[in-house]
Amino acid sequence: MIDEKLRKVQDTIGEAARRAGRSPQDVRLIAVTKEANSVDILACIHSGVKELGENRVKDADLKYRAIGDQAVWHLIGHLQTNKAADAVRMFSLIHSLDSLRLAKAIDGQAKKIHKIQDVLIEVNVSGEAAKFGIRPEDLVRLLDEIKQYANLRVLGLMTVTPLSGDPEASRPYFAALRTLAYGNGLKELSMGMTQDYMVAVEEGATMVRVGRAIFAQE
Ligand SMILES: *Cc1c(COP(=O)(O)O)cnc(C)c1O
Repeated sequence: MIDEKLRKVQDTIGEAARRAGRSPQDVRLIAVTKEANSVDILACIHSGVKELGENRVKDADLKYRAIGDQAVWHLIGHLQTNKAADAVRMFSLIHSLDSLRLAKAIDGQAKKIHKIQDVLIEVNVSGEAAKFGIRPEDLVRLLDEIKQYANLRVLGLMTVTPLSGDPEASRPYFAALRTLAYGNGLKELSMGMTQDYMVAVEEGATMVRVGRAIFAQE
């Protein structure tokens, strides 16, 4: 049952937060619905978890039409500039800003609908070649260049850690993202998924993106 699984995830978040001397309320659970059906998504919303993560604009569009404002929508996957208009229309927070070109596109679309678009910058802290995200050493310059875009608001950083069977393997990457964010005056940290969200919370995550632990069929 979805609500049971949600409660388990929320308990795990709460325990991890307390271990780290943090308040569980400071961690937002984003339910990643990319592989969930509409019945399960509605069950999730009715259980009180209303922040949903989708990794593709196109997939989110259908769900957005059905569910709309009953949920708060997060774009967690890579965004192409030609999809910026749709992204700005649907998503409260775009987690995957990773270039100046994309910043310009999002800003332009946000301006058209008089929206200040909240974004996170995706950073590839692990250095894996296959990952999206900017290099840590390019953050200061990107932040500086983005200042010219009045319809963008950068709230923090996001990262995707390498696949691993061991949650502890992610800890150094989470710590690195936290150091980078705090060093640049940024507060929000989107990090941690099913494989490692408990460790992410210990390391300061303010948003965890959890899919399989909530929606996977046994
Ligand atoms: C799918 C996805 C998640 C959730 O992963 P799970 O293993 O299902 O918890 C988190 N972040 C991103 C960017 C994703 O694409």
